[in-house]
Amino acid sequence: MKQIFEQARILLHDIYPEKEIEALVKQLLQKVCNQSRTNILIYKNRDLLLENREDVMQMLSRLKTGEPIQYILGETEFYGSMFKVAPGVLIPRPETEELVELIIRENKAAGLAVLDIGTGSGCIAISLAKNMNQASVEAWDISEDALAIASGNNQLSRTNVTFRQVDVLNLTVEQMSAKFDIIVSNPPYVCEEEAEAMHVNVMEFEPHIALFVPDKNPLLFYRKIAESGLSLLNPRGKIYFEINERFGSMTANMLAELSYSNAEVIKDIFGKDRIVMAQINLPAHQ
Ligand code: GLN
Repeated sequence: MKQIFEQARILLHDIYPEKEIEALVKQLLQKVCNQSRTNILIYKNRDLLLENREDVMQMLSRLKTGEPIQYILGETEFYGSMFKVAPGVLIPRPETEELVELIIRENKAAGLAVLDIGTGSGCIAISLAKNMNQASVEAWDISEDALAIASGNNQLSRTNVTFRQVDVLNLTVEQMSAKFDIIVSNPPYVCEEEAEAMHVNVMEFEPHIALFVPDKNPLLFYRKIAESGLSLLNPRGKIYFEINERFGSMTANMLAELSYSNAEVIKDIFGKDRIVMAQINLPAHQ
């Protein structure tokens, strides 16, 4: 195994810092040898089986291209559960765990109806289904690839999320007639002009359809979801968005203009504006 660490250092030193290379190799070894983290440390001086060695070497050459380790392993952890991931979906991010955490903390009532728009791997919807009190969760995505991955994760987690192929920018009358207590969305929010500054891990491997919005219309999805929310949400229903840190107050203002109450911008652990939430007003006659 020692040789593998050495080879990884030589192969990857120009794209990953030393500490990260070690962590990456440990993850590969865990998966290939089907061993716990601790066992990998204990067996560090042992020889690898030839076939395991070949598998790890092949994975190292994929890492060298900049491919994210989560796609190479085919899975990642999110909010305490394992999720299958493949290039058809974004890799779940830690910021999104904060969004899930907030929704669980603020919504303790039993049996709430939740809608996740642009579900990707299903990580938000499935984590809410697992951790909220008997919530009924529906999740939409435009991408068939994403829905296939999300349904697989739904089975893996033994949750009961209903997945539908929906284009939120073109909702049908039938889709508009459903009712929910909570709408959550982590839609595409990176502006095209921000692409240059993005890491090759993201730019060359993750699905652009899940990432980018036009520079001239950064609130495209938020506005459409908020407008649709006016009829999709029950009285006092809430909306939760993960946002681009640049557009916190713009998103909160847009929600207030659409007559939502209590629009609030919340920072992530890095101190960046990351979540916007708001509540629908009760209709005047009620
Ligand atoms: N946070 C992701 C990134 O910076 C973007 C997620 C999204 O567009 N919804 O890569």
